[in-house]
Amino acid sequence: MIQKNIQLIRSGIPEKVLLVAVSKTKPASAILEAYQSGQKVFGENKAQEMATKYAELPKDIEWHMIGHMQSNKVKYLAPFVSLIHSVDSVGLISEINKQALKNNRVISVLLQFHIAEEETKFGLSIAEAEELLQSKEYSEFKNIQICGVMGMATFSNNPEQIRKEFRQLKSIFTQIKNSFFSNQECFKEISMGMSGDYKIAIEEGSTMVRIGSSIFGGR
Ligand SMILES: *Cc1c(COP(=O)(O)O)cnc(C)c1O
Repeated sequence: MIQKNIQLIRSGIPEKVLLVAVSKTKPASAILEAYQSGQKVFGENKAQEMATKYAELPKDIEWHMIGHMQSNKVKYLAPFVSLIHSVDSVGLISEINKQALKNNRVISVLLQFHIAEEETKFGLSIAEAEELLQSKEYSEFKNIQICGVMGMATFSNNPEQIRKEFRQLKSIFTQIKNSFFSNQECFKEISMGMSGDYKIAIEEGSTMVRIGSSIFGGR
């Protein structure tokens, strides 16, 4: 079932869009099944769960952290994580830089923006992101690389609402790119789209979709 689901999703998305298979709460056996169909990129939302799965599973898997992070958890994933999608404060980015340095790595991250109507969703405003990117602290970080933006749309069955929010994230991406990263090729990712809305996200310019339940079933 898992392999079929992945094939079906893969066949419906452009090749240049990265499929992040969101395996949070699912056992290592389910991840292995996906892996055997060629899926190498997995997303988790808890640092310790990700570290446990990393230890058990093949080492060519790329692990993406997609959930809100507390600074004191960064150490669990700093040795191996390939992308942290959910950076939303200078404090967090500072800790990622520190742990990356300890591990002799440069860790790639995305800035998470608040685009939904719900208060509960995490993320920066444009003003907060600008403040972060202009701070002296940020200018001294050598072990992180910001590669783009991430956002979650409102949980809604109104496709126009969702489309509007994704369009807003794309416009934030362009604005931040032009102001701070115009000559940096690495800044190119727009992580948006989940099981319920990834088709709209791709139409609005997503480069990475994070899909869980449509692959692994409900949680
Ligand atoms: C759980 C989660 C997803 C995947 O959600 P599905 O609806 O199961 O596809 C994507 N992004 C984030 C940030 C998540 O926490």
